[in-house]
Amino acid sequence: MTTRQIKDIAGNMRDAIIGSYEQGESLRAIAKKYFVSHTTINAWLDRWGVPRRTRPARSVKDLAGQRFGKLTVIRRDGLKYPVKWVARCDCGNVVSVYRSRLRAGIRSCGCMRGRRKATHAS
Ligand SMILES: [Zn+2]
Repeated sequence: MTTRQIKDIAGNMRDAIIGSYEQGESLRAIAKKYFVSHTTINAWLDRWGVPRRTRPARSVKDLAGQRFGKLTVIRRDGLKYPVKWVARCDCGNVVSVYRSRLRAGIRSCGCMRGRRKATHAS
């Protein structure tokens, strides 16, 4: 085999690995496919300058679409920690709230503060 051929094979393998990675395969799965350790794949990806996937933290429950009082959760606010959610309040305000505050029972953007409970006029 010529040096050129070896380089081609290495290049093909690199492209295949990068392709698999970009398609969302786990490092472990790729490593298994190419008979190398996943730490090696990790090191290669770094060496090749492959942009890393930002992995959505598995433990974060998706609250999008859920209602908390007047707040409707739209989406997660970036990938920040502690986790924040963007929510729209019934009054029209869009706010970013910590998950812990939703858990703690926040029910509006703050527009309810100081107001008496709405009572229905009958
Ligand atoms: Zn509000």
